[in-house]
Amino acid sequence: MAEESRNAFDAIVVGAGFAGMYALHKLRGQGLRVAVLEAGTGVGGTWFWNRYPGARVDIESRDYGYSFDPELEREWRWSERYSAQPELLRYLNHVADRYDLRRDIRFETRVTAARFDERGARWNLTTERGESFSARFVVMATGCLSEPKEIVFPGADDFSGEVYRTFDYPEEGVDFTGKRVAVIGTGSSGIQTITAIAPECEHLTVFQRTPNYSVPANNRPLGTGEQREWDAERDAYRARAKAEPLAFWNDPPERSAFEVTPEERLQEFERRWEFGGFRVGGPFTDTGVDLAANKVLADYAADKIRSIVRDPAIADRLTPKTYPFGTKRLCVDTGYYEVYNRDNVTLVDLRATPIERITATGIETTEREYQVDAIVYALGFDAMTGTLAKLDIRGRGGLTLREKWADGPDTHLGLMIAGFPNLFTVTGPGSPSVLTNMVMSIEQHVEWIAEAIAWLDAHGRTTIEATPEAEAEWVAHVAEVAHQTLYPLADSWYMGANVEGKPRVFLPYVGGFPAYVEACNDAAAEGYRAFRVA
Ligand SMILES: Cc1cc2nc3c(=O)[nH]c(=O)nc-3n(C[C@H](O)[C@H](O)[C@H](O)COP(=O)(O)OP(=O)(O)OC[C@H]3O[C@@H](n4cnc5c(N)ncnc54)[C@H](O)[C@@H]3O)c2cc1C
Repeated sequence: MAEESRNAFDAIVVGAGFAGMYALHKLRGQGLRVAVLEAGTGVGGTWFWNRYPGARVDIESRDYGYSFDPELEREWRWSERYSAQPELLRYLNHVADRYDLRRDIRFETRVTAARFDERGARWNLTTERGESFSARFVVMATGCLSEPKEIVFPGADDFSGEVYRTFDYPEEGVDFTGKRVAVIGTGSSGIQTITAIAPECEHLTVFQRTPNYSVPANNRPLGTGEQREWDAERDAYRARAKAEPLAFWNDPPERSAFEVTPEERLQEFERRWEFGGFRVGGPFTDTGVDLAANKVLADYAADKIRSIVRDPAIADRLTPKTYPFGTKRLCVDTGYYEVYNRDNVTLVDLRATPIERITATGIETTEREYQVDAIVYALGFDAMTGTLAKLDIRGRGGLTLREKWADGPDTHLGLMIAGFPNLFTVTGPGSPSVLTNMVMSIEQHVEWIAEAIAWLDAHGRTTIEATPEAEAEWVAHVAEVAHQTLYPLADSWYMGANVEGKPRVFLPYVGGFPAYVEACNDAAAEGYRAFRVA
């Protein structure tokens, strides 16, 4: 068979993480000929790549797994309240085996370009190795946190020691015994890495630009009894979770911070801190929207940092001061602040003494040089748009996605882009995405996409496309709801602020999962009236 017809599909899915794997299962189940193109050598996406020490979820295991098949849920047993990366990767490999996914996944196949052929109404894709593929539909399951930020420090290539990134950390791990290690970055990945490495190495120097709020996970092993109880109430639990703004049960607040006495407020903060995780972030209805309410929570968190970290100057350096609580992604840790009570850990504040260059033997700030044997970069991601913007994607009239998104990523529902027919994005900008339990958002997106394709086929239609009007309306709505919250006050990756030159736009939809699902269902109603179908 010629390459042309061998590589022609009904649908091509790019990426084999949670999203791509489910998209393959779902679309194949509808009778479509599907191929998944994946840059890595295995399935798992985020959990394939991010193998750094201490990598684990910040959403509980009970929530962070597929819900589409009750049998799958019943047969899989999580060992901890918050799953660690190796277990998540085992789970995703189990899913790949269980649904026989691998036969339609091409690994080590990085897509570099996708062009829409208007006459044939097909997408033509090119890979890094120069292979060509074509399909009627393309599902970009490329991930929102899959494009790591570049290492841009002057002299980075001169360093003669070991260099690692949290994103593609060696599978076999690294032995830091007797070594002086630097970690640059204190976001979620940095915090988890720091906590894991500190007890192992000779000395750890942490380079912090912006302190993050971190709350205890209170992680623990899970018993089979507890998991059997989950099984018994599975359907009710999942339904309750999906009715929540975050698509997981987070003990939603009912009162304003100022409806209660200071003692009651403290009690509520403590109750949530003891429970652990994201519940700490939403104790009252107004902490996310009102600066005064937010401040009482921020003050409580600052007290907690002071109560854990013995050196008041270090505690002060670890306390965020430039943004409201929760407006940058909250970190969920297992003993992070305690690390700074260790004799072998030094915290460098890069706001006060920025990095000037990396030298052959260490890191030089404006104050001094720190000699190290290894550097671990935990610099974060060009979130939500970076992976797609890197590709050469051309829609109608040769319009590139990069041009289209130059001032910010316009999408309709984070699912489709005007001018790019039959191209779907999973958890794209403008969808709740990283502000939810991602697995629920992924399932909802994939199901919406699969239904749209089935509808087109059932009605003899060829293409579906966001209209510019619907897209503009949605983009305005996403911005409007974001600006009703405190989120835009932080220089966060949610705002694109962590990448130089990236437009400042609040990327995810903050209106909550149920409101979003309703908008998606409305848009699909009456023959996809909010879209142009042909
Ligand atoms: C360290 C870390 C911890 C996280 N913890 C949580 C959590 O606790 N809860 C939560 O809800 N979310 C969490 N997330 C977000 C996480 O990314 C999602 O939960 C989920 O795994 C995303 O799945 P995905 O399939 O959409 O994307 P990914 O898992 O990112 O998969 C995308 C895949 O696409 C591939 N790809 C990208 N571009 C191309 C290309 N051009 N050609 C071919 N293949 C390509 C990549 O190699 C990758 O395998 C975390 C993210 C990170 C980085």
